[in-house]
Amino acid sequence: QRSAAARAGMERHADITEVLFSEQNIKTRVAEMGQQLASDYQHKQPLVLGVLSGSFIFMADLVRCIQPPPSGLHVDFARAQSYAGKATWSSGEVHTIMGKLPIQNRHIILVEDIVDSGQTTKNLIIGLKKAGVASCALVALLNKTSRRVENVDVALQGFECPDKFVVGYGLDFDEEYRSLPFIGVLRPECYS
Ligand code: 5GP
Ligand code: MG
Ligand code: MG
Repeated sequence: QRSAAARAGMERHADITEVLFSEQNIKTRVAEMGQQLASDYQHKQPLVLGVLSGSFIFMADLVRCIQPPPSGLHVDFARAQSYAGKATWSSGEVHTIMGKLPIQNRHIILVEDIVDSGQTTKNLIIGLKKAGVASCALVALLNKTSRRVENVDVALQGFECPDKFVVGYGLDFDEEYRSLPFIGVLRPECYS
């Protein structure tokens, strides 16, 4: 357990204008989400499929909160990319690379860092359904409903996210800021 002073220091960064979700906020919410999934998937042998790279920290914390773990819970990662390099909007062109485990007839828990326009996730879900999954539930840490273009059903969300560009806890801008333990708003001068 870090001291309050150390924690306060870790929740600051020169490029962040505002902390939206603190390390403690996130921890509490992720624990609740894990409990929910443990109960929903008790007898379902879920395949928890994280979408790289943004979900890597959320994934690691979430799977450890699915307690007690349903038997047959497996973990894998897919990759989706919709941003063209240094951009803060979705290019609409989504490239998807599925994980290594077979997904046919599996109950998929699809784990996303953030659903914004919904294009990335929509594309992935279409791919999963084509592959014949038994079910697919979307779990997103952040839900930016105000910017939705594609209709995607978020089964479980961490937090509603305001229409601001956020980084930290796995989320990047041009590969930076992923390691911050909190989620905050990136100073606009950093991307404009
Ligand atoms: P969508 O296809 O839903 O528009 O975009 C999804 C992807 O865009 C996310 O997985 C994430 O990589 C990126 N994204 C959308 N909004 C934000 C944001 O506020 N911050 C960061 N860092 N990435 C975002
Ligand atoms: Mg994502
Ligand atoms: Mg990104």
